[in-house]
Amino acid sequence: MPLPSASQTPSEMGAAGAQDAQQVDVAVVGAGFAGLYLLIRLRRAGFTAVALDTADDVGGTWYWNRYPGARCDIQTTDYSYTFDPELESAWHWSEKYATQPEILRYLGFVADRYDLRRDIRFGTKVLTATWDEAAQRWLLTTDNGKPVSCRYYIMASGCLSAPKPPEIDGVGDFKGEIYFTGRWPHDGVELAGKRVAVIGTGSSGVQSIPKIAEQAARLTVFQRTPNFAFPAHNGPSPADRVAALEKDRADYRAQARMSLTGVPLERATEFSWQLSEAERRQRFEKALAAGDLVAMLSQLWADQGGDLEGNALASDLLRERIRSIVKDPETAEALTPRDHPFGSKRPCLETDYYATFNRPNVTLVNLRQEPIQAITASGIKTDRRSFDLDVIVFATGFDAMTGAITSVHPIAGRGGKSISDVWASGPKTYLGLTVAGFPNLFMITGPGSPSVFSNMVVSIEQHADWVVDCLMAMREAGFTAIEATEAAQAGWARHMADCSQLTLHRLANTWYTGANVPGKAPGLMPYPGGVGPYRTICDEVVSRGMLGFTLSGPNGAAQCDDGEIVRLQPDVRLVLNMLADLNLPPLESFGAEGARGFVAQFNATRPAGRPVGEVLDGTLAGADGPLPYRLYRPATPGPHPIVVYFHGGGWVLGDAQSDDPFCRDMCRRSGMIFVSVGYRHAPEHRFPAAAEDGYAALRWIGEHAAELGGRPGPLLVAGWSAGGNIAAVTCQLARDRGGPSIAGQLLVNPVTDCTFDRPSYVENATGYFLTRSLMYWFWDLYCSPADRTDPRASPLRGKLEGLPAAFVVTCEFDPLRDEGIAYAEALAAAGVPVEQLQAGGHFHSSFTMVDVVATGVDGRAKMAEALRRFAEVEEAMPKAAE
Ligand code: NAP
Repeated sequence: MPLPSASQTPSEMGAAGAQDAQQVDVAVVGAGFAGLYLLIRLRRAGFTAVALDTADDVGGTWYWNRYPGARCDIQTTDYSYTFDPELESAWHWSEKYATQPEILRYLGFVADRYDLRRDIRFGTKVLTATWDEAAQRWLLTTDNGKPVSCRYYIMASGCLSAPKPPEIDGVGDFKGEIYFTGRWPHDGVELAGKRVAVIGTGSSGVQSIPKIAEQAARLTVFQRTPNFAFPAHNGPSPADRVAALEKDRADYRAQARMSLTGVPLERATEFSWQLSEAERRQRFEKALAAGDLVAMLSQLWADQGGDLEGNALASDLLRERIRSIVKDPETAEALTPRDHPFGSKRPCLETDYYATFNRPNVTLVNLRQEPIQAITASGIKTDRRSFDLDVIVFATGFDAMTGAITSVHPIAGRGGKSISDVWASGPKTYLGLTVAGFPNLFMITGPGSPSVFSNMVVSIEQHADWVVDCLMAMREAGFTAIEATEAAQAGWARHMADCSQLTLHRLANTWYTGANVPGKAPGLMPYPGGVGPYRTICDEVVSRGMLGFTLSGPNGAAQCDDGEIVRLQPDVRLVLNMLADLNLPPLESFGAEGARGFVAQFNATRPAGRPVGEVLDGTLAGADGPLPYRLYRPATPGPHPIVVYFHGGGWVLGDAQSDDPFCRDMCRRSGMIFVSVGYRHAPEHRFPAAAEDGYAALRWIGEHAAELGGRPGPLLVAGWSAGGNIAAVTCQLARDRGGPSIAGQLLVNPVTDCTFDRPSYVENATGYFLTRSLMYWFWDLYCSPADRTDPRASPLRGKLEGLPAAFVVTCEFDPLRDEGIAYAEALAAAGVPVEQLQAGGHFHSSFTMVDVVATGVDGRAKMAEALRRFAEVEEAMPKAAE
């Protein structure tokens, strides 16, 4: 089949090629898990379809990866199709983790059972795929048989199907045998009595090295980066997992679909600091005994995946285990990962991996100390020595995700645009399913979807179902083309970046981020927001009229509901969905006492805040009698600057307890004393009680600063919400009433004015927890309309010249957003140094829900930096607290 010439236009090529092309509704690349399930669904939906695969049989990744020891790392209870209960009962896995031959048999069994092979063209490589604008179809040229003309083109080419080139000089000079784990010969390799090298210690290396060591005369392992690995404990499937599945299969599968990983395991909810060392070790031992990747990655403690300190505790325990197995201390140290947090790089399940390095015929070469210079005719030469070899095995991985698409063949979309060019600076997709400019092209588990961060089978079924349901709905509605919009795609990129903040993947050089391929654009490719949340997003796209897609068809049929599907931060979205599901009555309907009780109850269910050096309760003199305070002292040696803090709660609710996690976190991050003031509440004490208490507390704390452990010099003031209002007012009063001196004010979502017609009050009137009607209620309880323009109630109406430097935080989905911004702008106009943080995707409580809204970390870090700048603190914070 001649390749299309560069001078041909897509239409010419389409017209020429399409004449004798195989005509189908849908063409699929790949006959692995995804391709097979797609064929089943497409056929049932009445579409004509063909799958094309270069392999000679079904299997996809399991067809190619036949290296010794190849197994799946997800338990067989979970790594199976779930679409047909009869299929589930017709197949029995023999072990907890299936071997590659068993999985291949399973896929062959599926192909036979549903008679799929008749729609698969094996041994056929697609050479080019070109969108024919005039025909509104894709034209595929192939190296074997007819071209294919299809309405829809689906890449089911996997995530790890394009092996990476060796990238080492001299490979062609080697006179011995060379193998790639990802392209292992089908009739096996004789290694007995040979001197073998394995380059690479990812999952493929970790699985194959023990098996190769058993056969080879000598095995030399060339390791660049050690990986975290822990035992698989293969054997029969665990009884409890099997029982859970068999008790209610449908429920088990439904839970898997809504879980974060596609495996229905409960995640740890306790934070590391809530557990004693013995409790942590006990959890670790339990996860170790389970021999399960998902258990070890999610069941230790809640902060293991997103927080460096929590992660370090897990990493240390895994490192300790390596030392306990590997006898030679130098080898043990070389095998110990120290350059990345546990889980940021794909960890491995191992069977005898570490013990293999105790064998007399095995040597580890640490490439960090002696890099490979070249491969020679006789073996491998590092910059210290030469190794004579008979066989070199490359377990060097894949050009993952994007490579699994771009390396299949050139894909030319609208206007001849190449997908490789569109992705030159990193993958751009909408939902990891589609790409703007490439109509009617779908990717199964593409970059931007949970894919390799999940049990692949669950994600494959979800994608195939979504795509086929979409094609059926289009057929029903008379549409023949679908394309993502640029706006939707850009929104998805932002959401991906927001989700990435919740993980530590940015701290590792991995194939997840493209760092393993020289020159590849960096960026996290799999969607890190979880399988369940992702599924609800895809479903929401549909329920909102295919939001972010342009649909078109014959006779001018067209529809485009443009927009971004997720504008909230991922964890804010989860919190708000959870609150919406609770269907709570409005807070104001409880009355003041009832609302206080409700909030106290809610706070009691929160995890305890992080430890600080000391927390003590005391009493200070308010404007009209004693007031309680709670002081948070950092663990670092004092004296420290003091921050006078005012809690939120609309002047009606809240106390030190309600803002306790925030104060602890800010105390740790800033290295400052936080004194949380228990000012009087409305309606018992109406305006100006709270404002006057705020000022009185400031004076008292200033006068007692040294006793409290404070550093000599000005105080700082901070507050959230109504507390931000009191903080702002306090600064004005301190300026006007002769002190004390204030170095800076941190105003987090402050109330600054008594008008309710700014856009944020309208846009965010409902749905974001703090509602407009709740704010009306707070104002009514606190302050009569006649008093509201008093600057002690509405500081925006006060004189702003000569106030301390300010850091003003506002959140996009907060009724108070615009008055916060107005205050910052007015301060700046009055000559006050002001910095603003306008937090996109956040809501009113984002920064104070410390352990729930993890995406607030970055904002709190910036707040702490601002406080330290205001206080002119120069010494760096200890690393762990940053
Ligand atoms: P990988 O995780 O990317 O590991 C490749 C290894 O080769 C790394 O140790 C890498 O070192 C090293 N390497 C790459 N280029 C090198 C070079 N030029 N010189 C020296 N060393 C080099 O690839 P993989 O082991 O094939 O696994 C890929 C993914 O496939 C896994 O993470 C997993 O998701 C999947 N997989 C799954 C299973 C299973 O389920 N059991 C089995 C195999 C694979 P650096 O780390 O320094 O780059």
